[in-house]
Amino acid sequence: MRRNRNVKIVATMGPASSTYEIIRALHEAGADVFRLNMSHGTHEEIAERHRIIRQVERDLDSTIAILADLQGPKLRVGAFANGSEDLVEGASFRMDLDPAEGDANRVNLPHPEIFAVLEPGASLLVNDGKIRLRVDECGEDFANCTVTVGGTISNRKGVNVPDVVLPVAALSDKDRTDLDFVCDLGIDWLALSFVQRPEDVEEARTLAGNRAAILSKIEKPAAVKAFDAILAVSDGIMVARGDLGVELPVQNVPPIQKRLTRKCRSAAKPVIVATQMLESMIESPMPTRAEVSDVATAIYEGADAIMLSAESAAGSFPIEAVTTMNNVAIEVESDPLYRQIIDAQRAAKRESVADAIVAAAREITETTDIKAICCYTQTGTTALLVARERPPVPILALSSQQGTARRLALSWGTKCVQTAELDRFKSAVVNAARAARALGYAGPEDQIVVTAGVPFNTTGTTNILRVAPCDERLIYNTDPE
Ligand code: ATP
Ligand code: MG
Ligand code: MG
Repeated sequence: MRRNRNVKIVATMGPASSTYEIIRALHEAGADVFRLNMSHGTHEEIAERHRIIRQVERDLDSTIAILADLQGPKLRVGAFANGSEDLVEGASFRMDLDPAEGDANRVNLPHPEIFAVLEPGASLLVNDGKIRLRVDECGEDFANCTVTVGGTISNRKGVNVPDVVLPVAALSDKDRTDLDFVCDLGIDWLALSFVQRPEDVEEARTLAGNRAAILSKIEKPAAVKAFDAILAVSDGIMVARGDLGVELPVQNVPPIQKRLTRKCRSAAKPVIVATQMLESMIESPMPTRAEVSDVATAIYEGADAIMLSAESAAGSFPIEAVTTMNNVAIEVESDPLYRQIIDAQRAAKRESVADAIVAAAREITETTDIKAICCYTQTGTTALLVARERPPVPILALSSQQGTARRLALSWGTKCVQTAELDRFKSAVVNAARAARALGYAGPEDQIVVTAGVPFNTTGTTNILRVAPCDERLIYNTDPE
């Protein structure tokens, strides 16, 4: 699937996006990465969606990344007999350990560790802070509250207790079971919720082994403080604004988003900006102007990916939401100011041969008429370095590793195709030129930049840059073996 934008789109799967037809239409409309949220749905449903995504990938001969998102130590209410209830300001509402279905007066909160540390006067925030309750009275298995901000509460909505430090482990038993389940299904990215310390990431990496790349969701004040250390041990980052904006004052979120996206780019690791990007499109086919502006801001900041949550998982207009993001991206990225902003944020890295090669590749594309940067990459590192340069032409990553190709679907501007293992530089150049032509990036008269490493198929060896014609005969006639 050829895209004419650089930023990637992540779409969360749910009841509104569970059939083959919808998932295929979402991918065709622009979704590059599909997110399976382990907080919702059964293993059977998750496995079925996973199967369909891989089917769509095969049918369209495309490359799709699957991101599984572990719930982490997130507090959630139980279910309601009616599915949902309206809580009005001033009303009493009780949370307790009783597993019975909830009603207008009470609901289950299946977390004894919370009741153990709760104090009267604390706030309970429900559904990314949309509903607020104040604790009046509490014991080891209940909290009687007053609704201070009303709204509709429904099954399994999240609860935050920002005033209280919670004594919870990074990975619950459910997370460990879910982790093994999805890693065995075959995923590309594993997202960790409520990361607080680099050790949390290392623990998950040990469990996942080489089955998935690890993406840390930044949604706790502690994670913002320890961000550099967390970034160092993560493969990617999500600015998870839903919980972040509840755990911290909402006005703190935009500067954090800006700082984190820049640090990720500088570290050559993909960053997703997530939550409420087109929230009104859950119910409306048209976004608000403010939402369009928010999506645009993330793109101007140079985020690798922007994400849909309930809009694609449970909304009435999932395809329209993806189309909206796609259209905003195309418009923003054609703005000359976008290029200026992106270029101004480039951090010059001069630490390795690969840094120098990718910087040179970008400079050549800015100096002469080059249609694409084609980079051979085993683990994906070289492609990530090229993406960090945010070059003005498409990045075509060529990898013999299917997992690498899929993981790169999350990275800015990177189109990754799986290719046979090659052992000669000449055939690598021919192969790159063919791929660039087949994808419509270049014609036979055009030139591309090819980067590779000799010896072939060894990681960490990018050491060659060739400005090559796309006409195979010219390559055969001129190139050394
Ligand atoms: P997180 O903090 O991990 O983002 P979340 O509850 O906010 O968790 P999202 O994936 O962001 O979940 O989706 C937003 C909302 O969409 C959910 O609160 C839920 O109401 C609905 N939703 C998402 N996925 C599903 C699903 N698989 N089944 C049912 N509802 C879903
Ligand atoms: Mg969250
Ligand atoms: Mg969410």
